[in-house]
Amino acid sequence: MSEQKVALVTGANKGIGRAVAGQLAEPGTTVLIGARDPRRGEEAAAALRAAGGDVHAVTLDVTDRSTARAAARQVEERFGHLDVLINNAGITGSGQVSPQDAYDQIPSSVDLDMVRRVFETNVFGVIAVTNAMLPLLRRSPAPRIVNVSSHAASLTLTSDPDGPFASLLPSAAYTPSKSALSALTVQYANELRKDGILVNAVAPGYVDTDSNNHTGHLTPAQAAAVVVRLATLGADGPTGGFFSEDGPLPW
Ligand code: NDP
Repeated sequence: MSEQKVALVTGANKGIGRAVAGQLAEPGTTVLIGARDPRRGEEAAAALRAAGGDVHAVTLDVTDRSTARAAARQVEERFGHLDVLINNAGITGSGQVSPQDAYDQIPSSVDLDMVRRVFETNVFGVIAVTNAMLPLLRRSPAPRIVNVSSHAASLTLTSDPDGPFASLLPSAAYTPSKSALSALTVQYANELRKDGILVNAVAPGYVDTDSNNHTGHLTPAQAAAVVVRLATLGADGPTGGFFSEDGPLPW
């Protein structure tokens, strides 16, 4: 096996995923930009190559299992293994980012089709991609999986009536999808612990990206740091945990 590390970041053509890809693209690591739109993926990869990284685009729509399988075949043929999987691709709601998006998620009036779409990407997509890539991760000497979640995933934080999250609009779509991602993170970590595959969830904070109409106060680069840290853990690193830049978070 080549000593070159290989990392795949889903939804990496922009936002936090792109910043993670850029930071992972150190000498010795090849980074694959997963993007559902090949043109946007190639544009992001070309920009990161121009900055000196060994970065390539892979077409991957996390809601389309055939593209996940095709991406895994491509990684296998080209590299033979995968060391790092970052499940970053995510949507907040309808896809039309606007203040209305949050109101449309109020539990008592939510459109069930919207909930399904959000879960399709943020939860089922993670299972599809992870399972497609696991055979390749098992060939790595130090496999790592990072699920990009949110503080909103934390039932401890969101159920505290006096806490900072009590003022968020209730959501039956995005927030529960990230709580489900937490549950998945624990279950994968429990299954894969014996194989030395470390699986953790990360809350990046409130980040200036398209997903919130650029209202976040952190830059994507600042948010990427904790993701990259979890992606490059040593063998004694945690698994089945939930972390922000400031340390462990309650589930
Ligand atoms: P962006 O909207 O900037 O980026 C989202 C990325 O996901 C895009 O590349 C988008 O691709 C991709 N994507 C969406 N659906 C799919 C799909 N079906 N298949 C493949 N790729 C897909 O958002 P962020 O960078 O802010 O979000 C990244 C992650 O961080 C998400 O999981 C989000 O929930 C999480 N997060 C973000 C926070 C923030 O404040 N920004 C806070 C907490 C968590 P395309 O360009 O084609 O739409």
